Amino acid sequence: MSVTGAGHNADLIVINGRVLTIDDDNPTAEAVAVKDGAIIAIGSRASIEEFKGPATKVIDAKGGSVLPGFIEAHMHLFSGGAELAHLQLTGIHGFEALQKAIRDYAPTRPDAKMLVGQGVDYTVLGSERVTRHHLDAILPDRPFCMAAPDHHTMWANTKALEMAGILQGRTLGPGNEIVMDDDGLAAGELREGEAFGPVLDLAGESRVRLGLSTGGEPDPMPTAAERDADRDIMRRGLAWCARHGITSIQNMDGNLYQLELLAEIEAEEGLPCRVKIPFHYKNFMTLDMLDKASGMAESYNSEWLSSGMVKVFYDGVLDSWTAVMVEPYADRPDWVGEPLFTPQQFIDLAVAADRRGLQIAVHSIGDGAVRAVLDGYEAAQKANGKRDSRHRVEHIEVTTTSDVPRFAELGVIASMQPPHPPGAMDFPLEPTVSRIGPARWPLSYAWRTLKDAGAHVVFASDWPVSPIDPILGIQAAVLRKPWAESDPDQSFSLHEAIAGYTIEGAYAEFAEHRKGTLRSGYMADLVVLSMDIENTAPADLHKVRPVTTICGGKITYQA
Ligand SMILES: [Zn+2]
Repeated sequence: MSVTGAGHNADLIVINGRVLTIDDDNPTAEAVAVKDGAIIAIGSRASIEEFKGPATKVIDAKGGSVLPGFIEAHMHLFSGGAELAHLQLTGIHGFEALQKAIRDYAPTRPDAKMLVGQGVDYTVLGSERVTRHHLDAILPDRPFCMAAPDHHTMWANTKALEMAGILQGRTLGPGNEIVMDDDGLAAGELREGEAFGPVLDLAGESRVRLGLSTGGEPDPMPTAAERDADRDIMRRGLAWCARHGITSIQNMDGNLYQLELLAEIEAEEGLPCRVKIPFHYKNFMTLDMLDKASGMAESYNSEWLSSGMVKVFYDGVLDSWTAVMVEPYADRPDWVGEPLFTPQQFIDLAVAADRRGLQIAVHSIGDGAVRAVLDGYEAAQKANGKRDSRHRVEHIEVTTTSDVPRFAELGVIASMQPPHPPGAMDFPLEPTVSRIGPARWPLSYAWRTLKDAGAHVVFASDWPVSPIDPILGIQAAVLRKPWAESDPDQSFSLHEAIAGYTIEGAYAEFAEHRKGTLRSGYMADLVVLSMDIENTAPADLHKVRPVTTICGGKITYQA
């Protein structure tokens, strides 16, 4: 793959690596040469050292793996960046431990208008459901709220509910609920964004959540100081990506404001990751509002900052019974969930967005949601003709035998998150596995089944829902165990898992001929790891750390 080095001084070379190109034509190499943001050669150390000139930077990989930069195909940059400053409650169990964490944190934020915790398990108090009274016992005088890892449920203390004006409850749109107690007051559990929005807005991060909550723009216009602060949140999030070896981000919430902030950072110092920001279509919008999505696609279409996608939520999550199922929940036999769109409303949206040439990505967790979304894509294909649309279904936590082959038939991407299956990483088995019920376990989080049926399976973290680290995701995919012995094995090989975070991510953004593999002429997006990932035991994969991240030929992270 190498050409002669004479006259081709590289900007940067990586030598002494175990290069995994993810390119079947040339799977392994020792070294890579980079110039003007592109890979100019891949090959043996000797062949690459020919590109070394007096100004060439040399990176010694010291026998560690060199991979294409990770492509994070489903995440939330703005809220993730903001949450890096919140109280982290992942892994906390029991009242005592929760109390200690909150009481230790509160004094460190004396000026916070609302104290916010992140990542608390639905089962933090075992089988007892969290109420405002538990939180009042921990922190009575200051407003406090905390979010489940999936970000679909929050719990708030009385002070927070009072300040937000929802202690007496409030009528909300479908799928959203302020859980009420027998005493006629809010119990403290807030299901979905409309329910917890008023509480979270008091944290002063309402602009951060706009891309997720309404898809709209800040109103009033942020002051210069607010815009500065928001750019810093974005920078913090981008740096977090770079330090985890990520070079491309497919964001799954968005608005024009996020694109503007990123464009400002790009103009000031350049972006450390390539970012795609979607237009978020909500169920209260009308189809003419897709004009804005088309406008965003037209204005932002570079390799660094782009749009061109419509993000939609069709349902909620299993743990709060808001995911839409074909058959009733195993632990709630009269209930199948409530969709955020009617099937016809979604079909109309899919047809209209597809006609504009936009890509569609839909959060669909229950098998009922997955089916309705596939129906919408099928209707779009019938109405507008078959094209290379690469529409996506996000999460697919449960699916059905009849829908599995439709992914390949319709050319739809299965976007899945190895950290999400209960028991795979941070999420406990309960309550999720009981909600699903053993009859549906064989087709729950069924990456292998979908891949074997010909679907493109792309991997991601959904950060900040799960830790962003792609290596943890790769480990979770490799180590995946069935919940019952009779369930099919859904695990991936190491190479398949890496492909899910590289070439499949590139495919998901129509860029598989420019990135996602290491090949001469492709973008110089790569990550050097601390160890040889192929010769690391699966149980030790989490010890493999990014040492150097390179995006567009620039070093964006150095351990
Ligand atoms: Zn998400």
